[in-house]
Amino acid sequence: MSAEAVYDCIVIGAGVQGSFTAYQLAKKGKKTLLLEQFVLPHTRGSSHGQTRIIRKAYDEDFYAHMLDECYELWAQLEKEAGVRLYRQTGLLVIGPENSRYYELVKTTLKKNKVPMVVLTRDNFSQHIPHVILDEGHGAVVEVPAGILYADRALKTAQGQFQKLGGVIRDKEMVTDIKPGPVVTVVTSSGAYQAKSVVITAGPWANRLLAHTGLELPLEVAKINVCYWKEKVPGSYDIEKRFPCFIQTECKESKEHIYGLPSNEYPGLMKICYHAGSVVDPDHRDQQTDRSDIDILQRYVARCLPGLEPKPAVVESCLYTLTPDRHFVLDCHPTYSNIVIGAGFSGHGFKFGPIIGKLLSELSLGEVPSYDLSPFRIRRFHGNTKSAL
Ligand SMILES: Cc1cc2nc3c(=O)[nH]c(=O)nc-3n(C[C@H](O)[C@H](O)[C@H](O)COP(=O)(O)OP(=O)(O)OC[C@H]3O[C@@H](n4cnc5c(N)ncnc54)[C@H](O)[C@@H]3O)c2cc1C
Repeated sequence: MSAEAVYDCIVIGAGVQGSFTAYQLAKKGKKTLLLEQFVLPHTRGSSHGQTRIIRKAYDEDFYAHMLDECYELWAQLEKEAGVRLYRQTGLLVIGPENSRYYELVKTTLKKNKVPMVVLTRDNFSQHIPHVILDEGHGAVVEVPAGILYADRALKTAQGQFQKLGGVIRDKEMVTDIKPGPVVTVVTSSGAYQAKSVVITAGPWANRLLAHTGLELPLEVAKINVCYWKEKVPGSYDIEKRFPCFIQTECKESKEHIYGLPSNEYPGLMKICYHAGSVVDPDHRDQQTDRSDIDILQRYVARCLPGLEPKPAVVESCLYTLTPDRHFVLDCHPTYSNIVIGAGFSGHGFKFGPIIGKLLSELSLGEVPSYDLSPFRIRRFHGNTKSAL
């Protein structure tokens, strides 16, 4: 056991949520240790890659509500660190005009006074060239939405954390957690103690929670991150103000399909299917199911005729899904000084700064800034396993 003094908090997992939690704790002057199993940066979890979408187009009001402060916190971090993390592109939402989800998204945007433009069938192609709008589908653009530079955001949050005196130990896997008034965290190279622990282990959450006798209903899915080549270079480019998009449902699928304009790989547009096949995070590449890519190929060929209908590049990323697709932000049911941030269900990146704030509040025993009832463990109604 190392002779370190007791930390105020140990955060386990340096993805977006753990990095922002550690940063928030350090900002509050708390002595914080951030542990990561892999050498940083890495591409094995959920937070790697260059871009993510930030949007308020949600069917639930509470997400849009949290995003007000989220945009402010992203801007604050940009200012503090002197880096650009957000770029406005707008978000095009397309869906069957009378579907419940599409209607709810429009209602959320309206209710939250988000600047938006409703496109008509007549003016759609003038605003959004090279996209086919299906018969019976509506289209609305959420104007302030955009992209976040994901890899850069992680590096920035971790860098600011270190500047504030925070300690990061990467290539150090947590192998055991011993609960108590002071929690002991055992790793591949030592043991540390803290008044509280935050578990933000992404796809490995249940593996860590097993040490505390808890199992959450989480499912890990592999997402094929597909990049599609423009037939005419620049047609879907960020510089030409092509927006991000979400197709809520279409002939090919009931599940969302989403895309980001050509940016990180010039001439290649990122388009993904918002679902994947179940996988063990330690054997990610053994999952070779391509049925999602088949769906995307059919959709791209029909609705995005300016793209080659076969992906030029396919990368991998993991979703950790809860049954209702809402996050888990809560204290452990048995040990109140063990806090859990998990199940970000493929839409958690944009919330990083606010999740960090909320998890830091929980770990310090403070009243959380938002109503966390949608994110509580008890909503699973016994669909959790406790060995204790
Ligand atoms: C393809 C794709 C597209 C997405 N698009 C969007 C989007 O447009 N907008 C959006 O808001 N969100 C998006 N998301 C979701 C978002 O990226 C995730 O919700 C978020 O990255 C989850 O972060 P995390 O910190 O929970 O997990 P992770 O990033 O996986 O971090 C967990 C970390 O814990 C570490 N760890 C695990 N076990 C241990 C251990 N025993 N010891 C030490 N360390 C450990 C892991 O190595 C890992 O680094 C997308 C996700 C994917 C995969």
